[in-house]
Amino acid sequence: MTRILIVEDEERIASFVRKGLSANGFDPHIVADGPSAIQAARTGSFDLVILDIGLPGQDGFSVLRSLRESRVDTPVIILTARDSLTDTVAGLEGGADDYMTKPFRFDELLARVRLRLRRSESTPEATLLSAGELALDLRTRRAQVAGRTVDLTAREFMLLELFLRHPGQVLSREQILAHVWGYDFDPGSNIVDVYVRALRRKLGAHHITTVRGMGYAIGR
Ligand code: CA
Repeated sequence: MTRILIVEDEERIASFVRKGLSANGFDPHIVADGPSAIQAARTGSFDLVILDIGLPGQDGFSVLRSLRESRVDTPVIILTARDSLTDTVAGLEGGADDYMTKPFRFDELLARVRLRLRRSESTPEATLLSAGELALDLRTRRAQVAGRTVDLTAREFMLLELFLRHPGQVLSREQILAHVWGYDFDPGSNIVDVYVRALRRKLGAHHITTVRGMGYAIGR
């Protein structure tokens, strides 16, 4: 059974999440402060951690840092208040896999939980993604095009990784924005197009197909 660690000091929220997870076949455990969270997560017996930021004594960011420093790579979804989104983005850079802003609906959280679990299950050892002439090494963060090595910026890497995890599938600008830049990014922004252009310049224009009115795809 999939074990999930809930780190939340507000009893009402902790119990709401626990009940929802139990009802969906998960095995949830609650701790209410930072030190207990670190201790529990370090046992390695949890498949995922749901981590509140505002905790007594030691906040969620510090818990996360401490876990990542001690090489605990369990997926972490952070829970945060909407007014601290800037901090949240910092949290994502600090090793969180995803975040939810409070208040949230349980089904939103459940979707994130399932996504994270699937991702960590399906790719524990995969370090190389490929489609056709393209390959991406997840450890060195370098791409190869027909044997030629290409250096990528952090965002270009995330974008190419997203494409290669969904070969042949059309990804909308909104999906790409949400995955690579986060949900609070301005949906009217043309940043996706800018980065697709940058990738095409580096990889060769024909690898990424524009699907008119829908988005972009690789391997079609
Ligand atoms: Ca709290």
